[in-house]
Formats: sequence, structure tokens, C-alpha cells
Amino acid sequence: MKKRKITIIGSGFSALSAACYLAKSGHEVLVFEKNETIGGRARQLKKEGFTFDMGPSWYWMPDVFDRFFADFGKKTSDYYELIKLSPAYRVYFGVNEFIAIADNLDEIVATFEAIEKGSGLILREFMAEAQSNYDIAIKDLVYRPGVSPLELVTIETTKKIGQFFSNISRDVRKKFKNERLIQILEFPVLFLGAKPSDTPSFYSFMNYADFGLGTWHPKTGMFDVVRAMENLAKELGVQFFVNSNIEKIIVENKTAKAILVNGKRVESDLVLSGADYHHSETLLDKEHRMYSEKYWESRVFAPSSLLFYIGFNKKIENISHHALFFDTDFYQHAKDIYDEPQWPAEPLFYANFPSLTDKTAAPEGMESGFFLVPLAPGINDSEALREEYFDKIIQRFETITQQNIKENIIFKQSFCKNDFVEQYNSYKGNAYGMANTLLQTAFLRPKLKSKKVRNLYFTGQLTVPGPGVPPALISGKLVSNLIDQQFLKV
Ligand SMILES: Cc1cc2nc3c(=O)[nH]c(=O)nc-3n(C[C@H](O)[C@H](O)[C@H](O)COP(=O)(O)OP(=O)(O)OC[C@H]3O[C@@H](n4cnc5c(N)ncnc54)[C@H](O)[C@@H]3O)c2cc1C
Repeated sequence: MKKRKITIIGSGFSALSAACYLAKSGHEVLVFEKNETIGGRARQLKKEGFTFDMGPSWYWMPDVFDRFFADFGKKTSDYYELIKLSPAYRVYFGVNEFIAIADNLDEIVATFEAIEKGSGLILREFMAEAQSNYDIAIKDLVYRPGVSPLELVTIETTKKIGQFFSNISRDVRKKFKNERLIQILEFPVLFLGAKPSDTPSFYSFMNYADFGLGTWHPKTGMFDVVRAMENLAKELGVQFFVNSNIEKIIVENKTAKAILVNGKRVESDLVLSGADYHHSETLLDKEHRMYSEKYWESRVFAPSSLLFYIGFNKKIENISHHALFFDTDFYQHAKDIYDEPQWPAEPLFYANFPSLTDKTAAPEGMESGFFLVPLAPGINDSEALREEYFDKIIQRFETITQQNIKENIIFKQSFCKNDFVEQYNSYKGNAYGMANTLLQTAFLRPKLKSKKVRNLYFTGQLTVPGPGVPPALISGKLVSNLIDQQFLKV
């Protein structure tokens, strides 16, 4: 195959993945990132001795990462060390009341059984189905490029057709009675960006990812994976340019010819955008865009988030690496995100403390903490609202875990919708892309290949297969395959 010059917009996981595959195919690959560091939503924040992953923190589906590195004759362990978290996480439901999710199914089954008699066996059956869905979805279907509806029609999926027309919420409720267990089983699909009641039952493969495969932590944080992919890409000859904002994708004769980087034209045989799809299209003149504003407006987007990166001058007690605070009404909060967008009166929140696992994440005797409140995309964001919600969640945290922490904060930085828009050009400040509902799955998502402009492609969490780090790695592979197929024809 003739060597082409491919310019890539953005350096998130999908762009990094595509860069590796395209360089391996022999192309000259140049990655342009607007921010001063690479990694996109998975960037790292280092301040005053504390280290934070700014976005993703749950390393799920380790097989997808293994498969990515294996495509290059490598192993994940060639680049970073993984620790299986035990417990995987805790879910708090009240003052000092929590359920710990163990790192193996047998113990999780015992926990369920102790809370709801008979539920242990039901959980085993549920997990067997979830594993079978995982084998079909994550080992096969998600590696199809969303070009045709026929991609979804296999002997296995036709046997499970009913699961596409029921939803996780209904399914779990049929099997379990205890409200806490139900919420724990509904939690994993939140990663797909929609309400459990809008997520097909077939997506229980996320429950297998959770209970079956476990929660892992790269030794010094999720940014280890960014560094690993950057190193691999460089080994393959990829060139990186940071502080390089793309202002325009230049199209001539309906063909992508160049990108405008900080006012300078960079010639390209092919342009691939890993920036948010909506933003990428605004880099084109209107007649070259595939999707209208009305189209984007009609899509279900994953939530935005209010985040706090906090440095504490002491160790925090009574917590685990990942902790979910489900002590308020789960369904009311979901309504405040999806149905009647507003700041939730009683927010659920999530916290992680990486320094419990990784001693380098905080100075000795101190703790680094990350707090997240999911919010409706497009919501009004202000300093005053951020502070109001900070007080709310810290107060709740103090009551639930029975300790004072507010006076021990020595570093604090917030991040919310306006930052997602400003720093990542995110549509409505979404945190993790376009939701994976039934009507926004596979061939029903925005396309990897432009239908209007030759040699223009897209990747990332708004296209195929969807939100999350593992899907981003897969998205980079899918788009690279399409590009290779195009060049093989020429
Ligand atoms: C707070 C948070 C928590 C999350 N938690 C998890 C988790 O625990 N586990 C998990 O698997 N997933 C999680 N996710 C989702 C996951 O992080 C994302 O799905 C994934 O990182 C998206 O990668 P991407 O390549 O699609 O996009 P991005 O990471 O957004 O990359 C796009 C890049 O394009 C750049 N860009 C935009 N416009 C331009 C321009 N004009 N010129 C140049 N560059 C540009 C941006 O700066 C950015 O670097 C989380 C996300 C967030 C925000």
C-alpha cells in the first residue's frame, strides 16, 4: 500500500488507537491536539504533590486493552502494571451503611444471598446470560463498523431478539426484589450514558464486565494507558503536536485536502477527526456536513458532570478506592438528567481515592480525592452552583462516612460543563459522548466515514461503538480498517 499522509484531530483514546493502527499500516501519521497535553478526557492533573486522572477511572473490560496491544505484538504488561481492586467498590446507602462488591463472583453471590434470600442463585443465572451477551457483543459485534444493519443479524443475536425490546431496569426488577441490589445491578449500564430503563436488556454484558471481569487499576492511574499508547505510537513513527488547535478542515472538489492548524495549512491525503463529532463537523463548511443541528438536538447525550479534584492533608477513613453514594433517590436524579434537565435537589455522587492504591498519587500521610456528580448536558454552569453542590456532597460524605474532611482540604479544583465545552469542544458539555440507546446503536450512530467528503473520517465516543475507554480503543481500530480498505481499492 502506498504511504499516505494522515492528519488526526485530537489525542483522546480513539485518536491514539487509530494513530497506532494507521502507522502500523505504513502511513505517515500526525496527531494535532489543541490542549497542552495529550489524552483528551483522560488527561492527568498534577498539582501540589497530588495526581488525578481528570476523567476515566474505572478500568473495565481488560480483554479489550489486551486485544489492542496484541494487535501490535505487545502485551499490556509491556507498558503498565495492573492491580485488581479488592473490593472493586463500595456502594453507600446511608450512614455507615454500604455494600462492598468483592473482586470475585462467589463472594458477590454470597453478599446477594445474605441480603435477599434466594437471590444468589438468580444472580448466577443472570451472570451466565450476561457473560454470553458479553461474548457476543464485546468479542464480536462491537468490532463491526456500523455500516449496515445486517452486521447485527447473527444466529446468536436472533436467539436473543427479545432482549433488545426489553430493558435492564425491567429485567432486573423481574429477578430481584431488594431495592439496593437492583440499583447495584442497574449501575454498570450508566457507563453507556442512558437510563437503565432506556437501555436494552441485552446490554447486561456490562454486568459481566463489572462482576465477572472485575475492576482494575493501572498502577499509577488511568493515564498509564495514555502514556502506553503514546509510547507505542511513537515506536510506530507517529508524530504528536500539542497546543495545535484545528480551525478548519479544508475541502476542495469534495475531498479533504488539508487542515488549518493555528492559522497554518497542513496538507493531508486524509483527515481523521477524533474530536467530538459535532465539533468536527463545525470545522467544515455547511454543505459538507452530514448532520444538522436539528439532528444533534434530537439525540440522547450522555450526562455532563460536575467534578472536583481534591487534595487532603490527612488520610481519609472508612472509604474504598471507588465509592458510589446512592443514599438519595436514584430515579429522581436520573429524571433530573434525562427528562426534566435541572440541577438535582439531592444528587447521587461518586468518589474515588487513587492514593489508597497508588502511594504516588498524594504526598505521604495525605489523600487525593475525585468527586463526580452527573448532570444534564447543556445545563447552566456557574461558580456559585459548583460551590453550592460542593458543600452539599462534602457534607453528605462527612455524615455518611462519619468524619470531618472539609477543614483538611489543601487543594481543590473544579471542572464542569463550561470546561468540557471550552477544553474539549464538547457538544453541550457532555462528559462521555452520545448515549448507547437501542436507537443510537451501531449503524444508527453517526458514521465513521463521511458520505459527503472523500478522505474524511471520524472516530470517538459520538460514533461507533460508543462511550467509554474500551469502545474508544475499538473505534480507532474500526476507522483504521475502513481507511485501509479504501486505500487498498485505489
Ligand atoms: C469524568 C469522566 C469520567 C469517565 N469515566 C470513565 C471510566 O471510568 N471508564 C471508562 O471506560 N470511560 C470513562 N469515561 C469515558 C471516557 O473517558 C471517554 O469515552 C473516552 O476517553 C473518549 O475518548 P475520545 O477519543 O472519544 O474523546 P476525547 O478524549 O474527548 O478526545 C478528543 C480530543 O480532541 C481534542 N480536540 C477537540 N477539538 C479540537 C480541535 N479543534 N483541534 C485539536 N484538538 C481538538 C480534545 O482536546 C481532546 O483531546 C469518563 C469520561 C469522563 C469525562
